[in-house]
Amino acid sequence: MRKIYRKIAFCLMLALLPLFSCAPKDTYQTKYIFAMDTDVSIHISATSDVSELISECESLIYSIENKLSKTRTGSDVYRLNKGERVSCDAVTLAVLETAKKVYLLSGGAFDPTVSGLSDMWDECESANALPSAERLDGELSRVGFERVHIENGEVWLDTGTKIDLGGVGKGYAETAVAALIKENAQAYGVRGYMLDFGGMVGVFGEKAGGDDYRVGLRDPDDSGKNLGRVELSEGYVSVSGDYERYVTVDGEKYHHIIDPKTGYPANSSVRSVAVICDDGATADALSTAFFVMGYERSMEFYEAGRFEAVFFMSNGEIKTTDGAKYIK
Ligand code: AMP
Ligand code: MG
Repeated sequence: MRKIYRKIAFCLMLALLPLFSCAPKDTYQTKYIFAMDTDVSIHISATSDVSELISECESLIYSIENKLSKTRTGSDVYRLNKGERVSCDAVTLAVLETAKKVYLLSGGAFDPTVSGLSDMWDECESANALPSAERLDGELSRVGFERVHIENGEVWLDTGTKIDLGGVGKGYAETAVAALIKENAQAYGVRGYMLDFGGMVGVFGEKAGGDDYRVGLRDPDDSGKNLGRVELSEGYVSVSGDYERYVTVDGEKYHHIIDPKTGYPANSSVRSVAVICDDGATADALSTAFFVMGYERSMEFYEAGRFEAVFFMSNGEIKTTDGAKYIK
């Protein structure tokens, strides 16, 4: 399963890379790493050698991963899922805060407590059988962010509940890396950066010709093709799609974004959705939420200026918010 994820993430990265088309490639210093279960690339444009700064970015990403990983023994999330009451790191608390904000905003469509359901779908792939009604009901009864308790830096979960911050963690990490680069911008003569954490993109700075950055949005059916691009001068673009990760049961694909109400992969007539926002963690969580909610429900709380979005619908339609600079 992990290998498949890596393969998919790598293809996604290849699909995204040529899309930073305003970037004069030779002025960017680049590093590719594998972290947070995805291929990560850091591109910094600067007047001096930024290899040390890039190493610091790398360490920061790994340290965030060490707090948020569901599988890494000793991480905050690992310990919470083992039933411990944990004095969480500030990183974990900040990510949980964004998760809670988007949980409330989305009426529960974004809910990290779907973790047990995700594990169930992994087991379904191994057993090559759909979940029994009993198993599904059991897992659903442990879902709900009100089962996550946060008090004075201490966090604990109701018995049996597990969390997975995979829908928001990469966006948080990207914002933290962006902040680190900006802090050091003067010392290194940083002109701009482009960050790509497996389809979660962050950009900032000066481009050749003064144009905006262009972030390509891939065709949900063809990783080698784009259906258009969004343009922005600074900020984050998070894409959630049904093609990113999935399990196969009896020849059918079941993608990784779970509807917390049904326990099944969300089926909202959206193939993929891109959210553009000035905070990475919010963009990340919102794109996951919107994928579950579908276009109409998502638009109920659209406020110009707070975020923009582009929806690729199952029937081939493309719907965009008024402020999204989407170019076909
Ligand atoms: P993304 O690719 O950012 O949309 O996030 C998908 C990941 O978030 C999945 O791989 C799960 O780890 C987790 N996830 C799945 N469904 C949900 C949901 N409804 N709410 C929050 N996180 C979810
Ligand atoms: Mg997300």
